Amino acid sequence: MKKVFNVVIVGAREEEYRNLKTSLESARFETSLAISRAEVTSMQRLSGQTDLMIYCQEEEEAAQCHVPVFVNKTIFVTSCYEKGILLEAFKKGAAYVLFRPLYRAELLPAIRNVLFFSKKYREANLSDASVLSFLKDVAESGVTVIEPVSSPFKPTGHFYPDVLKITGELENEEAHLDALADRGFFTKQLRNRVRLCEMCESYQINYREVCPACSSIDIVKGQMVHHFPCGHVDSLETFRQGADLVCPKCEETLRHIGIDYEKPTDYFKCAQCQTIVPEPVVELECLVCGLVCRPDETVEKNIYSYEMTPHAWEAVRSGVIKGVDLGALLYDHHTNLYNKQYFELELKRELIRTKRYHAPFTLILARIEKIEEIQKNHPDRVAWYVNNLFRALSQGLRELDTTCVWDAQTLGLILAETDFDGALVVVNRIHDAIQKLEYLFDICRPEVSFSVVQGDASHLTVDDLVSRAMADFADG
Ligand SMILES: [Zn+2]
Ligand SMILES: [Zn+2]
Ligand SMILES: [Zn+2]
Repeated sequence: MKKVFNVVIVGAREEEYRNLKTSLESARFETSLAISRAEVTSMQRLSGQTDLMIYCQEEEEAAQCHVPVFVNKTIFVTSCYEKGILLEAFKKGAAYVLFRPLYRAELLPAIRNVLFFSKKYREANLSDASVLSFLKDVAESGVTVIEPVSSPFKPTGHFYPDVLKITGELENEEAHLDALADRGFFTKQLRNRVRLCEMCESYQINYREVCPACSSIDIVKGQMVHHFPCGHVDSLETFRQGADLVCPKCEETLRHIGIDYEKPTDYFKCAQCQTIVPEPVVELECLVCGLVCRPDETVEKNIYSYEMTPHAWEAVRSGVIKGVDLGALLYDHHTNLYNKQYFELELKRELIRTKRYHAPFTLILARIEKIEEIQKNHPDRVAWYVNNLFRALSQGLRELDTTCVWDAQTLGLILAETDFDGALVVVNRIHDAIQKLEYLFDICRPEVSFSVVQGDASHLTVDDLVSRAMADFADG
């Protein structure tokens, strides 16, 4: 599908407009940019069709370092170089700030990061036809695992060259892969973690030591001295008198380290306020938007590798995307899910225990209804829906209970040491927990059907037991 982004350049003088236009046209994005021009006075009336505004600040406004409020996605071009301009522009809605003179090497990544990381772009690629053709291309490329590679030019410091090779487009491959993983087409493995600025989501952050008292960065490391007889603690420099060390408090000369004095630790001393501390405070400064914050105020962002699931291979093989695969949606997010093979082995063990020791156990099958319908109406929400449902469902279980994905819509549960009546109590508890998930109602009121069978000596094999449970579904 051909995508078009509408770019409006506001307030540029003739020459600047020509330069911007030439730069944009040189970029050779596969997505077309429809470039137009507007006066500053008409900025507020720009339509919702504007994907990106490049606001070129007039010299007079720049001289006063005044920043207007931006409604559209905006790259703010200014010749005000005051320290606070970055943060002010971001607070007023700018997505990027560029300083004059404008360099193409700065402009193009900024455009790219604003447009290709936008929601519009991401959603354009999520139709079934687009997804299918993308999966086919991945399958044919022979890449088994799509790995991230680091690059300072990408917003998260990482990109996926394999995907770039396939799409041939500069786009946000990662959000695309994430969206497809949410729909069960990829499994993810953690590869790296970056910390992003809370305000602009950039990873270009400067970590620096500052004085905990006055926040000055003029803080230097030194050696501390502790004089035992009088208890005075100060920097080595304050003890120095010629070749000797003399205590500034009691005026005694220090002679033997370990006996009359010690050098306990390194310390940091602030050149601004003279405060002495064992550890400076680490402060972060975002180099993109100017935000200053503490390390724990940043946003943690995981970087993954992606591998196609059987569900995806099946779609490639058959040429259609069929329904939903619970397993693909759930396995990534829950550690308490077992595979079907293990589950069947557990069932077998329980059957033997029942026959030998009359220890009761129950098999429950839980079928999530309307999942195809949700997939059809809310393809981007189905993973979220199923995972929340599963979380509520697991809350009703004990640690000893075993859970697996039985088939595309059904979960299997083994309740050890539980008879039929006990299992009904559990089912009711799960049912109640699910009905409390009111935040899912917007998408679909959760409906889960249960089939409960207590294992006993009449079940000769695991298959007998499972077919009994399946038959119960059929009976309603
Ligand atoms: Zn200080
Ligand atoms: Zn002393
Ligand atoms: Zn920032």
